[in-house]
Amino acid sequence: MALKVVSLKLFMSRAYLVEHSGGVILVDAGIPGEEGRILRKIESLGYDDLGLIFITHAHVDHYGSAAALREITGAPIAVHRADSEAMSLGETRLGTARGRGRLVKRMYSTIQRFWPTPPTTADILLEDGDDLTNLGLKARVLHTPGHTLGSSSLLVGDGAFVGDLVTASGRSPRLQRYFAESWPLLRTSLKRLIDTAPQIVHPGHGRNPLGSVELRRLALN
Ligand SMILES: [Zn+2]
Ligand SMILES: [Zn+2]
Repeated sequence: MALKVVSLKLFMSRAYLVEHSGGVILVDAGIPGEEGRILRKIESLGYDDLGLIFITHAHVDHYGSAAALREITGAPIAVHRADSEAMSLGETRLGTARGRGRLVKRMYSTIQRFWPTPPTTADILLEDGDDLTNLGLKARVLHTPGHTLGSSSLLVGDGAFVGDLVTASGRSPRLQRYFAESWPLLRTSLKRLIDTAPQIVHPGHGRNPLGSVELRRLALN
């Protein structure tokens, strides 16, 4: 079976199911409480098993339902080593905020007090270049830090799942511009991603996907 990507528009973010010859994996897991929605989608595709929960970075809108999904499906959770501590503490490290990100950051501390994120310990700690073949999927991890220090992209076939390195929620796709633990690293990571020449880029928010030309254009802005 050829790879098939199913995009799920969740409350705040986007998650992806990747169907491959060995089964199906999940990329990102929405905010807390979205596990039912994700599970129903997996079932509707005809699967009763989930192979892996890959988390692009430790922000609540990407790992919020991961622990609940692991509880139900038994699927291991994988995240880059540098984001594992924040995730295990139920934290969302927004770094320094710019533009309207500043307001969101202030609101976030209130939201977190009333609606804490489940602390989520990863089963698999990823590093740049890790190959996921032993987990049944031909995929490679590309460390693309900046938004968070452990932000990673998953390269599968000719596609890349990039989390919040790139956002496509505005009129046109942009390199992340609201939150970063390291602003300079964002640019370096974009270049690294472009160097892997993905044909389809799946962002963590907004419309999708971006093509290779749109991706390269981001480096010129
Ligand atoms: Zn994020
Ligand atoms: Zn996000």
